[in-house]
Amino acid sequence: MKMSKIFVQTLREFPSDAEVVSHKMLARAGYIRKLTSGVYNYLPLMWRVLKKVENIIREEMDNAGAQELLMPFVQPKELWVESGRWEAYGKELMRLRDRHNREMCLGPTHEEIITSVARDVLKSYKQLPANLYQIQSKFRDEVRPRFGLLRGREFIMKDAYSFGTSQEELDKEYKNMWEAYTRIFNRCGLETKAVQSDSGAIGGSVSHEFMVITDTDAGENDVFYCDSCDYSANSNHAVSKLPQAKTVGDFDCAKVVDTPNTHTIEELCDYLNIPASIILKTLVYIVDKKPVLALIRGDKQVEETKLLNAVGGIDIRIATSGEIEEMMAENGFNAIPGFIGPVDENKKPIAKYGENKVTVVADESVKELKNFVVGINRNDVHMVGANFGSELDLPEIVTDIRLVEAGEFCPQCGKPLKVTRGIEVGNIFQLGTKYSKPMNAVYLDADGKAKPYIMGCYGIGVTRTAAAAVEAHHDEWGIKWPLAIAPYHVIVVPVSTKDELQMSVAEKLYKDLLANGVEAVLDDRDERPGVKFKDADLIGFPYRITVGKTIQDGNVEFVTRQTGEKETLKPEQAAQRVIDAVKAIMK
Ligand code: ATP
Ligand code: MG
Repeated sequence: MKMSKIFVQTLREFPSDAEVVSHKMLARAGYIRKLTSGVYNYLPLMWRVLKKVENIIREEMDNAGAQELLMPFVQPKELWVESGRWEAYGKELMRLRDRHNREMCLGPTHEEIITSVARDVLKSYKQLPANLYQIQSKFRDEVRPRFGLLRGREFIMKDAYSFGTSQEELDKEYKNMWEAYTRIFNRCGLETKAVQSDSGAIGGSVSHEFMVITDTDAGENDVFYCDSCDYSANSNHAVSKLPQAKTVGDFDCAKVVDTPNTHTIEELCDYLNIPASIILKTLVYIVDKKPVLALIRGDKQVEETKLLNAVGGIDIRIATSGEIEEMMAENGFNAIPGFIGPVDENKKPIAKYGENKVTVVADESVKELKNFVVGINRNDVHMVGANFGSELDLPEIVTDIRLVEAGEFCPQCGKPLKVTRGIEVGNIFQLGTKYSKPMNAVYLDADGKAKPYIMGCYGIGVTRTAAAAVEAHHDEWGIKWPLAIAPYHVIVVPVSTKDELQMSVAEKLYKDLLANGVEAVLDDRDERPGVKFKDADLIGFPYRITVGKTIQDGNVEFVTRQTGEKETLKPEQAAQRVIDAVKAIMK
């Protein structure tokens, strides 16, 4: 390809809405153009990268025994009603109606469709296990589309689904996919960490996310991990052993004390001269429009996904102070945030809010608390020396809703946990019968009995993987693509297009490279060398062969973008280096 012909327009500046490196660079280097919020045009350079990522995925999925198919992007409501997700999936599901007023949605993921395909075809145990995958655009009406391709509304995903007859078969396929994923990301030039995670809207019990570890804002997930053993988990799933802390207050009997103007835990601690670890904190949430009280130790935070799972909800937010005051008034209390508790001093609970009963969830760690301090729904006072079983009761739901913090201890080996940030590029789930049961997707077993498939599902964000590669590989000048997913392997730059010798050597090099299966670009533009070098660095060609004045001595300059190393080589040597490198990634 001649540089003058590539469909690309590099920008002088980064786009103003770009917050992270991959978004900035992909836009500036002419890979993507935004169409509307969270929706991008993948221009020819980007499309080449994405096709390479897709092909790596295809090769590894095919080698792992999966078969590719393609399912429709627009899906009928009926299948989603069968699985129960028409109601359960939140606003991310883009719903629409056709001209006959039939309800449809844009596929955010394809469990329902694949399950309907499978139940139609995989009728006997003899056809199992099976693994089917597709690579396709998905649409999720994300609340906050941002970071360019990292969190789009329309994005490309590889989604695979396995069907088997037993948990053992699922375990085996899960491991098979785990290994395939490790190879896929390695080949894309990405180091990943597989971490335990919450299963979210997809469901199921066991799931792991493949994270690209990054210290930048682009890492939207906090990952807790242990250096001493293999424990690692997304913060929405991580658990920990707590360090020793004071959990027994010095107040030997329950009484109400004045605590004027103590609106925060800190103010309350200062006023009573106590550690936060002997306070029972009450937070008010709204989950699917219904009130939920979360009780947790004063020095700890609530992990919202865990709380959501504890009550089986979809949508969660903290209540506004207006809502809290309204709720208080409705239950006959007069209290503002800071003085809220599950009950008053006479054990009268916050029973309801509007139409709804109040659900109370306590974090497991509160069971340790004795003689603690708690709000009693009256302003400017707290109860001290309270105990479960006397001044108040433990609620029905007591489970882990606590956000793990660095420095707490590994649940497996007890050593301190560390925290880092990660970009989730892939996710594998054990679904079990979550879809096959409600959708009556069954096969006939050897004994002639109809049984639901034991399913797994396995996703990779194709567009997100490409963007994560930019996050992992760049410098201030631009992208440093890993060779296997670079749009082109090499750029040949004659310093002066007017110099006949330079041009003839450059053209010969270019042709030789092409003839050897290398994806080469010839920078035939009549531009200053500085401009050409800048563009080459920004676009991120893994190799640059510069043909300049030194060609009179038979030499060219060979630059490796990843390392910045510059070497003086004969043209044939330079070409051979690229040819060899390309051969190596072709396997
Ligand atoms: P996230 O937690 O980041 O919203 P998710 O867990 O909802 O993602 P999955 O349902 O696991 O996503 O989808 C499989 C893969 O698709 C993810 O691992 C990720 O790589 C990719 N993906 C999901 N949402 C997006 C998005 N909005 N933009 C780009 N890629 C995405
Ligand atoms: Mg996920």
